[in-house]
Amino acid sequence: MNEEPMSLEPAESPEALRVLHRAAEQNPRAIFVTDRAGTIVYANPAARQATGHLPGDAIGKASHSPGSKPALSDNGAGLQAALRAGTEWEGALPAIGEDGGNDDRHMAHVRVTPIRNAAGDVSHYFAIQVQPVGRHPEAGRSEHVGTPDQLTGLPGRSQFMSRLAESMSDATRVGVGLALAVVDLDDFKSFNDSFGQQGADRLLVAVAQRLQDIVRRDDLLARLGGDRFGLLLWDAQPDTPNHELLRRIQATISQPLNLPGESSVTITACAGVALYPRDGASTDAMLQAAEAALGLAKKTGHGEVRISEPALAPGGMTRIDLASQLRQAVDRAELVLHFQPKVSLHSGEIIGAEALVRWRHPAKGMIPPGEFIPFAEESGLIVPISEWVLRAACRQAVEWRRAGLRPIKVGVNISARHFRHADLPDVVAAVLAETGMDSRLLDLELTESAMMHDTAAAIRIADRLRALGASLSLDDFGTGYSSLAYLSRFAFDQIKIDQSFIRDVTSNPVNGSIVAATIAMAHKLGKSVIAEGVETEAQMSFLCRHGCDEMQGYFFSRPLAATDFSALLAAGRRMPLATPAAGEAVPTLLLVDDEPSILNALKRVFRNEGYRLLMAGSGQEGLELLALHRVQVIVSDQRMPEMGGVEFLSRAKELYPDSVRIVLSGYAEVGMVTEAVNRGAISKYFTKPWDDDQLRAEIRRAFRSMAGAATVDGNGHSN
Ligand code: C2E
Ligand code: MG
Ligand code: MG
Repeated sequence: MNEEPMSLEPAESPEALRVLHRAAEQNPRAIFVTDRAGTIVYANPAARQATGHLPGDAIGKASHSPGSKPALSDNGAGLQAALRAGTEWEGALPAIGEDGGNDDRHMAHVRVTPIRNAAGDVSHYFAIQVQPVGRHPEAGRSEHVGTPDQLTGLPGRSQFMSRLAESMSDATRVGVGLALAVVDLDDFKSFNDSFGQQGADRLLVAVAQRLQDIVRRDDLLARLGGDRFGLLLWDAQPDTPNHELLRRIQATISQPLNLPGESSVTITACAGVALYPRDGASTDAMLQAAEAALGLAKKTGHGEVRISEPALAPGGMTRIDLASQLRQAVDRAELVLHFQPKVSLHSGEIIGAEALVRWRHPAKGMIPPGEFIPFAEESGLIVPISEWVLRAACRQAVEWRRAGLRPIKVGVNISARHFRHADLPDVVAAVLAETGMDSRLLDLELTESAMMHDTAAAIRIADRLRALGASLSLDDFGTGYSSLAYLSRFAFDQIKIDQSFIRDVTSNPVNGSIVAATIAMAHKLGKSVIAEGVETEAQMSFLCRHGCDEMQGYFFSRPLAATDFSALLAAGRRMPLATPAAGEAVPTLLLVDDEPSILNALKRVFRNEGYRLLMAGSGQEGLELLALHRVQVIVSDQRMPEMGGVEFLSRAKELYPDSVRIVLSGYAEVGMVTEAVNRGAISKYFTKPWDDDQLRAEIRRAFRSMAGAATVDGNGHSN
């Protein structure tokens, strides 16, 4: 207990030497010592093991082996200058080969420090590895298959893949992590279309040059094909994203690139990053993980970087587990279909069902499609899954018919990857024949991504599917390129407006306008329209008012198990649709105020005017009521929390331009209100407290005219 701490002084003592020797021997980092000439005189076990090319018997041989160079002889002027000056140096060095010479394929990041003797002269050099061993990007090309990319001079895809395989095994051995980034230009196709092959080539060269900025000496940049580049980055911590690295990638790819000579051209790129060993044990799995992350980045926008999410594999499964389990899921009958009703907005009847797949995992329970369909698409497993869904949905539809239920259409989602299979029409034909399904009851839901790339081939497939008698729907409309060309060139029967537009259709004038315009456009093109994700009566009412044909959403029903769905159908449940005749002809006044006492006061003012009165306590509520009912005149308080009166009435103007909008405000808000009047958002304003008779007269006038011309000085008191 009261033992003196052992001092290692004087260093010459045998015990001190033993401890120092053990400190070096047991050090997990590679350490070696050379003499002044650079010949290795000591290498610790980590140094020998790390490269696999540094056997003990190489020590001392270096300067004797013919044709080989001493360990520290080669690495540019920096090292040599530092050695001459007797100062410290840090950088990448080739490992020592079996012959004691340099092995250029293996690089080590080391710090080299001179050791001085008693006289102060450098007698040896001490080298310690500060970063793990990687591969020299330029090294060992000859032994790799594949040729460099002609255009950029970068390694090509096969070179990249074989280097990836080696790096993965190196990283495992040394216990470090790797990051694999796949970089893909945004909108390259349209760039290619407008600037032609030569312009595109110049762009790719420029991009390759820019990406060089990210790579360090040990990293690797390659062109994987087309506008896709691969980056292999030595990253110190396994499985933990290196944020500095990600920041650099993002900074590099999100900067618009100006092409020499084409000052107006800017292009950005997205990147997906996978981490080794976390995201895959094979090169293919790693590439897939990076590409999946790239897919997510592309969805987010231009110039985005995404790290692969292990969450893509549900329930904490690794991607490898997921792949093998998903492969078996079809055979083991673990997939189930749920059916969500599609309801006619003309009759309120159920007229169809969308088949939605779920995975009933034996250990993890029900897994929603969002968690495995993207993975199935990347891995190609979507094809057998998709065929299973098609067959199961058709069987179910036939069963319902046999049970005497009303015929309804059954929608099946076809992923882009499956759609591009040339044999899809044959598969559909075979399934129809096998199950006895009436092809006219089959609706295939496609997304725009199925249409992209080889458009001509896609048109042929679509035509063959329609020739079978099936109908085609364009799913998630508005989220992809929403190309009007697809609408005109593909024989879609129906457009499904994506739920992201429906979510705030009653309160966001932009989305409200998009939905209204989409319905009008689709009808002009002779296509019907269904809205997805309808959750409230107000949303439904808005859609009805704009002539939308069908709806699907929680407001009517969630997706149901097959038996529940058939019960619903058998019971003849339908959507009660507001009958416009009932109240729509009645002049309707909407009053909005967050203070109940004021609402009551207003109610009293208009009690005997013969209007239908609607009352809302907030702008949001007001917008709901506007979606639900036809309202001619709106009176709103200005000062309300969350959404002020001007804001509310501005939105109301966008969504219901025919309405007459009047605001009640305090004197303090007059500036803001006047501005809204001048914009036409409001036709009149009254300052509080108002004069009952004047207000009544003004509202009467408003109902009479419905013209609602703005008056710039619009103070109700002046009337
Ligand atoms: P989708 O084709 O757009 O399907 C509609 C999704 O919206 C379904 O999600 C449905 O449950 C959900 N939904 C329906 N009504 C509402 C609503 O009112 N509010 C909200 N918030 N959501 C609603 P689900 O079942 O999770 O499916 C998600 C996606 O997975 C589908 O989107 C589709 O792209 C894909 N998917 C599902 N089944 C299959 C399949 O068999 N094959 C393929 N390739 N993809 C499938
Ligand atoms: Mg769908
Ligand atoms: Mg959809």
